[in-house]
Amino acid sequence: METKYIFVTGGVVSSLGKGIISSSIACLLKARGYRVTIQKFDPYINIDPGTLNPYEHGECYVAVDGHEADLDLGHYERFTDIQTTRANNITTGRIYQSVIDKERRGDYLGKTVQVVPHITDEIKRNIKRLGNTGNFDFVITEIGGTVGDIESLPYIESVRQLRWELGNNCVCVHLTYVPYIAAAKELKSKPTQHSVKKLQELGIQPDILVLRTERDVTAEARHKIALFCNVAPEAVVQSIDVPTIYEVPVKMHEQHLDEIILRKTGVAIEGEPKMDAWMHFLEKMKTAEKTVRIGLVGKYVELPDAYKSINESLIQAATYNDHKLKLVYIHSEKLHSGNVDEQLSPLDGVLIAPGFGQRGIEGKFVALKWCREHDVPTFGICLGMQCMVIEFARDVLGLADANSTEMEQSTPNNVIDLMEEQKSISNMGGTMRLGSFDCHLQPDSLTAKAYGTTDIKERHRHRFELNNRYREDFERNGMRCVGENPATHLVEVVEIPEKRWFVGVQYHPEYSSTVLNPHPLFVDFVRAAVAYSENKK
Ligand code: GLN
Repeated sequence: METKYIFVTGGVVSSLGKGIISSSIACLLKARGYRVTIQKFDPYINIDPGTLNPYEHGECYVAVDGHEADLDLGHYERFTDIQTTRANNITTGRIYQSVIDKERRGDYLGKTVQVVPHITDEIKRNIKRLGNTGNFDFVITEIGGTVGDIESLPYIESVRQLRWELGNNCVCVHLTYVPYIAAAKELKSKPTQHSVKKLQELGIQPDILVLRTERDVTAEARHKIALFCNVAPEAVVQSIDVPTIYEVPVKMHEQHLDEIILRKTGVAIEGEPKMDAWMHFLEKMKTAEKTVRIGLVGKYVELPDAYKSINESLIQAATYNDHKLKLVYIHSEKLHSGNVDEQLSPLDGVLIAPGFGQRGIEGKFVALKWCREHDVPTFGICLGMQCMVIEFARDVLGLADANSTEMEQSTPNNVIDLMEEQKSISNMGGTMRLGSFDCHLQPDSLTAKAYGTTDIKERHRHRFELNNRYREDFERNGMRCVGENPATHLVEVVEIPEKRWFVGVQYHPEYSSTVLNPHPLFVDFVRAAVAYSENKK
């Protein structure tokens, strides 16, 4: 079968969930047995989101090949179990960088280099790159931003050109918003009409409209939208608010979105998507009665997108443990010895978040000391693990001035220190220890038992590491280094075996937890939290 291209654009407002719709389409097509990939084109000029503050763009996701990516790639992986790479997330910065490199090499043979055709050709080349591998039946391309933005114009123009080139092998899905005006007691279709008009002005007639809405859009309203927007009535589907994003594929299938896409791209419709395992997950989610309370200690708590993958991993882990998740955000900057007891004692488990820099770090130490002394299941991720090590060094090893050189460059007890290969680096973009690395686990460790294996691969994003000079000291005093990189001997996992569940990992397990394959460490952490809560009663 020839590769089919599905373009997903958005209009009216941002944050409508194009990533979730794209992921849902991918989920359904994969469940029908097709080979699918999703890619995101982001109109900003940064080369990648690795240098962006979470306040700007939420979490930075890391692909297996070490690419620092938009958080939507996390949704793609969670919904499809298909790993992404650098090829799945392109920014305007990368497009321009590549065009400018070609210009400097003289590849344009004296021509004036322009947005059309040179930038658009580069965009088109990148859109088709994964499709051209022959590995995919469907390539879903999500265009970041909102139709009408100045910066997304070259992308929309590229899609317009590709529609001509690809003919029936292409379908355009446009996501809009249908607001409810309480005073008029009415859902309003006008913004959708305007947004489609904008797209039409730019030369694109959408094939399918997905209407984000908080209330049911009546058949009558859908017909009206279909009529005004030149779209077939059955191709106007609604995406109404649902209790969990994982219900969206089911809602889309109920309205035949997958079948409409197949029909429009000339693919024979055979049977139904195999969604048994997915439905089993949703059923578990719905029927769970008891609640497990997990605290997330970090400095971006007012911004849930900053910890997107952790949130989702915890939801998945709670579901497979037959519990609902109550996630309690604890602001590390506001936590101190005076309020720690009140804040942490209602919890069944505590997760210490990843992060960078000094802000909020003392609160993480306060939380960790409390968790260690009260023997609460505790999970440290990346900076969270480094804080575990520092807190243990200060309190148990008696090194009161122990620190990470990230926080205090001249600390005499640098239990966390800059990795050797990081010392000569001056460019901040894309230069951390990034991507998937091997880790060997000690067979008798809690971590190895959770994984059910001793050799794992996990994704990293950091510059600092546990200083091996202190390793024996830690081991002798009860903090074991149970996971290490076999090639470099970097410590990747620490545990305090004498505690119920006290594990710190230098890597990011949250990037690889999916609906159908929840991450074993998250599942085991939540299992321990549930056991602890039952024990407390
Ligand atoms: N700031 C720490 C480092 O660079 C931890 C990074 C993280 O938590 N992702 O090593």
